[in-house]
Formats: sequence, C-alpha cells, structure tokens
Amino acid sequence: MSHTQFVNEPKSFVADAIRGLTACTDDLAWHADPGYLTRRTPPEPGTVAVLSGGGSGHEPMHAGFIGRGMLAGACPGLVFTSPNALQIDAATRAVDAGAGVVHVVKNYTGDVLNFRIAADLAGERDIAVEHVLVADDVASDKGTDEAGEAVGPGMRGTAATIAVEKICGASAERGDDLATVAALGRRVADGARSMAVALRPCTLPGADEPSFDLPEGQIEIGIGIHGERGTERRDAMPARELVRLLADRILDALRPADGDRLIAVVNGLGATHPLELHLLFGELHDHLTHRGLIVERSLVGSFTTALDMAGASITLIRCDDEILELWDAPTDAPAWPNAPSRRALAPGTTGPSSDGGTMTGDATGPGRPDGRPAGRNAVGEWLGAWARRVIDEEPALTRLDRQAGDGDFGTNMVAALGRLDLDALRTASSRSQAFAAVSDAYLGHAGGTSGALFGVWFRRLGGAAAESGTEDLSVVDLARGARSGLDAITALGGARVGDKTMIDALDPAVRALEAGVGNEASPAAVLSSAAEAAAQGAEATEGITARRGRASYIGEAARGVIDPGALVMAWLFEEASRAA
Ligand code: ADP
Ligand code: MG
Repeated sequence: MSHTQFVNEPKSFVADAIRGLTACTDDLAWHADPGYLTRRTPPEPGTVAVLSGGGSGHEPMHAGFIGRGMLAGACPGLVFTSPNALQIDAATRAVDAGAGVVHVVKNYTGDVLNFRIAADLAGERDIAVEHVLVADDVASDKGTDEAGEAVGPGMRGTAATIAVEKICGASAERGDDLATVAALGRRVADGARSMAVALRPCTLPGADEPSFDLPEGQIEIGIGIHGERGTERRDAMPARELVRLLADRILDALRPADGDRLIAVVNGLGATHPLELHLLFGELHDHLTHRGLIVERSLVGSFTTALDMAGASITLIRCDDEILELWDAPTDAPAWPNAPSRRALAPGTTGPSSDGGTMTGDATGPGRPDGRPAGRNAVGEWLGAWARRVIDEEPALTRLDRQAGDGDFGTNMVAALGRLDLDALRTASSRSQAFAAVSDAYLGHAGGTSGALFGVWFRRLGGAAAESGTEDLSVVDLARGARSGLDAITALGGARVGDKTMIDALDPAVRALEAGVGNEASPAAVLSSAAEAAAQGAEATEGITARRGRASYIGEAARGVIDPGALVMAWLFEEASRAA
C-alpha cells in the first residue's frame, strides 16, 4: 500500500472521508443508505433543486458545492466509479421541493446511464427531472459523424461541471422554473471547453503504484480526471508554453470571435500548489488578452481534482450578462471561493523586482572619487572571487540545506550574488562601496535567514572600511568590521558557537584577526590564520546537531551535514587570504 496517502483500509476510504466531511460541515448531511449527501436545511418549497454526483476522488467537487445557491445534494460513488441509480433516485426524492430536479451529469457512460435510470424512476413518482450533460474536455473529442452525433462516448465531463452547478444553483435560488434552470445549465455546458495536463500521475488509495508511469522529465497532455493516460506525452516545457498549448486547443474548439467574453478557470488536479495555479492564470490571462478576448471572470484553485495528481486544467466558458449575474450571485457552498473576482484584472509585471543590478555604472567610470585612476580593488577582487565561488557551488549548498534545513540556502545566495556585476565589483571605486554593494544585494534581493544576516555582516564590514580613510585591505579595519558584524549577527539571531550556524566559522576567524592586530605578522599571515580558523570552525559543524535555524527542527538528522552558512563564511576568509 502506498505510504503517501492517509488510508485506514482502501475499501472504507470514501466512507471514512465522508464521515469527517459531514462532521466539519454545518449544512451537510450524509444518508448512508443508499448513500447521498444533502443540505441539512430543508429545501425551500416550490424551488428547483440541483443535484449532481459522480465518482469520488474529484473533491471538493461535488460535496463541497452543496449549499444555498448551488447544489441541493450530491451522490458520491466509490473512487472514480459512478454512483448507482438507486442512490440517485433516493437523492432526487429527498431534494425535490415540488418544482423538479436538475441532474448535472458529467459525460461518462456509467454516470449517464445511472442518472437516466434514476430520472425514469423519478418520473414514475411524478417528479420532473431535467438532465444537463457536461462534456467539455477537448482532448477526448473524437468529432461527430454524418448525423452530427459524437463519435464514441463523446467528450468527457471535467471542470466545466462546477460552472454549470454554479449557474444552475443561482438560477434555482432566484426562483427560476425547471426548464429555465436546465436551459441555463445547457447554455453554460455548450459554451465551455477544457483541457488538462499532468506532471505526475495519481495513485488510487491502497494501490502500490501510480495509475500510469510517467518518466522523469515528461508530461502527459490531454489527461482526464480518472488517472487514465492522456492523448500525448511530451518533454516538460515552460509553463507559458504549456498554457498556450492548452488554451489554443480549447480556443480551436470554442472558436470565439474577437472581443468575445469569457470566464477563465485554472483548476488544480489535486497536488499542484496555489502559487503554480496563479502563475498559470497570469500566463492564461496574458494569452487570452493578446488574442483579443475579454476575460470577464476568473476562478483559480483546486476544484475538480483527480486524487493526488499533480497537474492542472484550463476551462474557458463563454459568458453574457445573465451568466455573469448568476456567477456573481452569493452561495454558501463551502468550496466556492469566498471572494471570487468580480472582474479579471491584468496581471502585474512578473517578479517582485526586475530592476537592474546592484552595482551601478559609476564604479566602472573613468575616475574614482579619490582622484586615483580606475583599476583593481583588492576588496572588490576578493568579494568577486568569493561570489563567483558561491554561485558556482550553488547545487552543493542547496544539497546541504536540503539535508539539514529546508533547501533554500543556495537559492538565497544566488538571488543576492547573482545580482552583482562582478566585473564592476572588482573595480569598485572604494572598499566600502564594494562591501555596500554586496550588502545591498543580500538585503534587497535574498530572503531567508541568511539574506538578512549576510546583508548585515557586509554592511558592518563596509561601515568599518568607510570610517578608516585608507584603501588598503588592512587587518585593523577588517578585524574591527568583522567584530562589529559578528556582534550584529549575534544580536539578531542569538546564536552562539556550537549552535551549528555561520557563527561557528565567524567567531574563530574574528578572534584570529584580532590576535593578528596586536602582533607583527604580515596581513597575509593574519588572513591565512583567520581562514584556517574559519575552515576548522565550519568543519566542526559537521559533527554536531543544530540549535538555531531550520536545521534545529530535525534534531539528530542534522549530524553529519556541514552547515552551509558556516561553509560559505569560511570560503570568504579563504578568498581574503588568497587576495591578500
Ligand atoms: P532559513 O531557510 O532558515 O530561512 P537560510 O537557508 O537562508 O535560512 O540560511 C541558513 C543558514 O543560516 C544556516 O546554514 C546557518 O548558518 C544560518 N543561520 C540560521 N539561523 C541562524 C542564527 N540564528 N544565527 C546565525 N546564523 C544562522
Ligand atoms: Mg534554508
């Protein structure tokens, strides 16, 4: 049995989940025999009820959409298996409030048959039922025959279902009659098309293996929501290209005219993060707008899932004023977003900051403020060489932070140091300017603990350099700056030697520098002993567990992993000793 899912026993998986769902949802009741969900609040007499259902595994659809203004009830089947006719029949009777019931049915043979039988049974009891079929997945479109009938079972019903449920529910809520509610549902279904891509297959509860094999680096385009293979396997591609590919296939089917109005849905398939879904929506919005279409509303989130599949689908829905009014109408259904957008805004520029580098042109300018000609700067050379090394070693640093931390250390380093113009740094007009550039890069562009601490460290080194008027890499200034930097890091982070942090490298290095100030040793010798001390301090972090930083959360597991912050600090002193 897969250890990546919470399961008691595979056969009770759905029932166990429903037990918890009803226990945490006010307006939801489970009728175990024969198995359907309704609101606890009795239906308003004389209003149309909207009922849906289908195999489980697509949550929050359908159960999460039960509530005032959306579904009156839903019939869950087993995972990826349609409910049976008796479940649907009992649910139809339970939700009917005298004005008839609309069945919202996804186009799969099992679902269609069972809902049809239930509708016949309801008819025998004089309950009027309208059947609204949702068939939106263009990947499963086999075209039509000469008679205009779909070839094969027709397109699969996927994420457009929730739009149909929303519009029908709002229409019923405002008091429309059965024919009107159903006609609106069909209008939405007819004007909606979807397509999906999987980055990783799903695993059925209790299964040992995923539903299909997807080799590393490949993606599956045109997948459905039941773990079935897609229509096409491709090499992974950037999100922007993928969005265009899916959107264009959908638009080929919808054939909108310039200026047509759409609702755009980006739906997660179960294991895809909201940040990724928002990224996809930004690309989708750009692409649709570029193609001259108007995105009237958006819906972004995981609504129609395929268990734990990583992937997403795009649904585009034609809309008009009436559909938008019903889309905007309030609902209490727990899974409908509390604050859906009322109008889609153009996405902002990409990235938190896309301004230029940190080092500005004056550093490479013709002259220096002190009147000396532009040339090499010892501190700049040192910092430049160190930055290059840290950037080159990013994968190794990331690995260390992943083993004993959260894996972002290397990225943080590159986010800062990658902003620097290393050539400009090497010829910086002053020592303090070189330090300041590195400090600004950390404080302005890196995140995490290390971004803040390294930023402050270099700021203090720069401060000490600015105070002394000389331009040489003097041991006195370095010792003063380093002590001040160490004090600042200690004050901010509270770490001491032995906590498995950068302090373990810094503290002995600072002591070595200070010892060198008092004796007759050459700067090169002092820096070399500081480098030696820092390297030993960093190495010693390998044998201990962490008391600070995210590595402290994993206890003993951090033993045997050198602290990346200490390592990078040791490199700083090593490069200083080389530059001296
Ligand atoms: P996080 O992911 O915890 O925000 P980073 O991955 O950016 O932090 O940086 C991790 C490094 O920061 C560690 O390798 C360690 O050297 C250093 N660090 C963590 N906490 C402290 C602290 N309190 N004081 C000094 N250094 C620390
Ligand atoms: Mg980290």
